[in-house]
Amino acid sequence: MEEVKCNLCGKDDYIKIFDGKDYLHGFSGSFNVVKCRCCGLIYLNPRPSPSEMETYYPDHYVSFDKQHSMAVKKIAQAVTKMKTINLQRIVGAGEKRVLEIGCSDGAFLAALRDLTSWNLKGVEPNKRISEKARKKGFDVKTATIEEITLPVNNFDLVIMNHVIEHVTDPDFALRKIYSILKLNGILYMELPNIDCTERWLFGKYWSGYDVPRHLYSFSAKSLEDIMKKKGFRIKHISYSMDPSSLFLSIRHVLKYKYGLERLSNIFTLNNLLLLFPFAFISFFHKIMKLSGIITVVGKKED
Ligand SMILES: [Zn+2]
Repeated sequence: MEEVKCNLCGKDDYIKIFDGKDYLHGFSGSFNVVKCRCCGLIYLNPRPSPSEMETYYPDHYVSFDKQHSMAVKKIAQAVTKMKTINLQRIVGAGEKRVLEIGCSDGAFLAALRDLTSWNLKGVEPNKRISEKARKKGFDVKTATIEEITLPVNNFDLVIMNHVIEHVTDPDFALRKIYSILKLNGILYMELPNIDCTERWLFGKYWSGYDVPRHLYSFSAKSLEDIMKKKGFRIKHISYSMDPSSLFLSIRHVLKYKYGLERLSNIFTLNNLLLLFPFAFISFFHKIMKLSGIITVVGKKED
């Protein structure tokens, strides 16, 4: 375990908010989730060192192994296609150089390849999963954003979907991304939003904490402030209709707070009877800007 200072303001002055447990995979251990007294950033402290952290990413980790029914897969494919079209609209027409950081097995890169002629590259720290992406024909390096060397002023678009909260040093990562983007290049990030209804309702059982894999918890506002300090102009923040984080939060609270494991198991995306009412709730959260997942789009400016 390693002690860390606040990544945003550099101070070492925090209060403990709660004892976090690994509700997703059930690994043993207790982890302090703390809040910086100076700037309010919420982070894990102490936290597993990078080598210790590998233990907490089993082969069936949710980003690696998505066991969904055919119906859910079809919906997910349609959503991915909409994201791809949206990205094309954001970065404009023509040949683009694109990097996905934390590209997993290359599923999103594959969706981009189907619809664009962009030059696509990826970075993925997990050896086995990055190999899967390479087998799909992508130029993917096995590394973290912190350790990889990349050419400056090189990319039109950098994508980080559900990655910034896992990064050991977001301040350094965002500075590095700024340097590798061309002027007016786009940073597109999807991440959990701590200012959401789920966190207020379920507290430490909120799936977005995902202790100990998530090292930081951001809100739209806190991430916007951090990105502006790095030289990005915020082009767009959108609130997701994806009910998956709400499902997961309910599973955690039923299983670990009330001991209702069998009941918790019905809260899955594969349960179409629940998926549609939950999609409606998620639509309401989207309108109220209280979704558990947000997309933040920043543009590199001088
Ligand atoms: Zn701070």
